[in-house]
Amino acid sequence: MRIVITGGAGFIGSHLCDRFNREGHEVVAIDNLITGSLANIQHLMDAVGFQFINHDVSKYISVDGSVDVVMHFASPASPKSYTEFAIQTLKVGGLGTHNALGLAKANRSAFVLASTSEVYGDPEVHPQPETYRGNVSCTGPRAMYDEAKRYAEAMTMSYHRVHNIDTRIVRIFNSYGQRMALDDGRVVPNFVGQALRGEPLTVYGDGSQTRSFCYVSDLIAGIVRLIGAQENGPVNIGNPDEISILDFAKKINELTDNPAGIVHQPLPPDDPTRRCPDITRARRLLDWTPQVDLDEGMEKTIAWFRGEIRD
Ligand code: UDP
Repeated sequence: MRIVITGGAGFIGSHLCDRFNREGHEVVAIDNLITGSLANIQHLMDAVGFQFINHDVSKYISVDGSVDVVMHFASPASPKSYTEFAIQTLKVGGLGTHNALGLAKANRSAFVLASTSEVYGDPEVHPQPETYRGNVSCTGPRAMYDEAKRYAEAMTMSYHRVHNIDTRIVRIFNSYGQRMALDDGRVVPNFVGQALRGEPLTVYGDGSQTRSFCYVSDLIAGIVRLIGAQENGPVNIGNPDEISILDFAKKINELTDNPAGIVHQPLPPDDPTRRCPDITRARRLLDWTPQVDLDEGMEKTIAWFRGEIRD
């Protein structure tokens, strides 16, 4: 297959590039590098069947030759980066999704949208099934990301219904692993960076808010299975093992032997209080379930960050 991956130099995008390159597919990675990094795909630059295009997909996307799958994974994704790049986030979710769908339509190719658990906002239903319609503020500090992704889902379903595009929508819950940017502000790079520097971990609020962390290899396996399944609507992919941020901080300090402890900082506004995927649909449709538990995944991730900090 020939697969176009927008956001191909990002955290998840680059792991998708690796996976499809390893399986012998042709990959065209497109990225404008505002939050992605060439370092994530440097090892692929000379690989057979791999091409990188430095381009902002919010502008018309031009790819020579036929395409079998378009995967739209371009977007700032951490609260820090979508706050910094608010307009770009809205544009890549809106205009970028439109352009990526246009590329899929022109090629009659399949289309995969990277969506997010943020479409559920600060959820009132727990855990969150795909049928839950969410609790999102359209004017709040996370609106640029949440609403862009909700719009992207609406656009994707419309291309499916109007143009009969074979769509997939993956609602990605908190994920972690190698190649997360150390400075992207998310809890995993923040805590691991602080722990490895021997600093106290910055827990926002009292740390009672929860998240459920999925290791990147499990996420990629779920996405690949979804491509092979017959489901055009949204599917949650995430690890249902829920943990409070305070317990997560303690775990990171333990795994890194960091004696510096924890400091509390103000909770950002609209920070979701609980988040956990209901993965019944993924289990049934994809026969998929996460294999890597938090300790194992974090040990690998910490080892990788150790190398990053040393370099
Ligand atoms: N968080 C924290 N300390 C940090 C960074 C994040 O306590 O240094 C908390 C944040 O308030 C949120 C959770 O960790 O409750 C996950 O935050 P992240 O930025 O990773 O992404 P989110 O899941 O909120 O999109």
